[in-house]
Amino acid sequence: MTVRRPAFKYFEPCALDAVMTATDAPCECCNASPGELYSGPIFGLRDVELLCLDCIASGRAARELGSSFADVGTAWEVHSDFDREAGDVTAEVLAELGERTPAYSSWQSPVWLFHCGDGGVFHGDASESDVAKASTESRAHFERNFGVPWAEVTDGYTPSGHNGIYRFDCRNCGMVMFHWDCD
Ligand SMILES: [Zn+2]
Ligand SMILES: [Zn+2]
Repeated sequence: MTVRRPAFKYFEPCALDAVMTATDAPCECCNASPGELYSGPIFGLRDVELLCLDCIASGRAARELGSSFADVGTAWEVHSDFDREAGDVTAEVLAELGERTPAYSSWQSPVWLFHCGDGGVFHGDASESDVAKASTESRAHFERNFGVPWAEVTDGYTPSGHNGIYRFDCRNCGMVMFHWDCD
């Protein structure tokens, strides 16, 4: 079964499978039953668990249910503090990321990475080859952000394990960034 999915500026299609659930249940916002629904992190006062991607992409779930996804406000505050390369990110970018972009499931809260004044594009769990081929620039960026040696964190890394490494690509300069999260 192939379900049509909307495109997201900050979320690669290949990373969506991890936050989608095949179900005949209706979207809790528009009642449509596309055959699969987003079941990743959803924040807000209303308890919402399943949404169609169209209601996320259009901003309808944010407007009508007050739902938000990645906790970008906090992520931005934390990130901009210690990473000067992140630049200045506009409120529009934060709104698109928090209210019209799916989040990803991780051990802790789904942090977003920023570069060149914009949000990075989420690529899901870094692959073994992403990690093995990480540039000197990417490794240095990681070590500045986390204060731990790259080699120590990536030793024996396998995707979807207890040691989570997520990939974000800068939309402007192409820099590949890695976020680290463990249980
Ligand atoms: Zn919907
Ligand atoms: Zn950049």
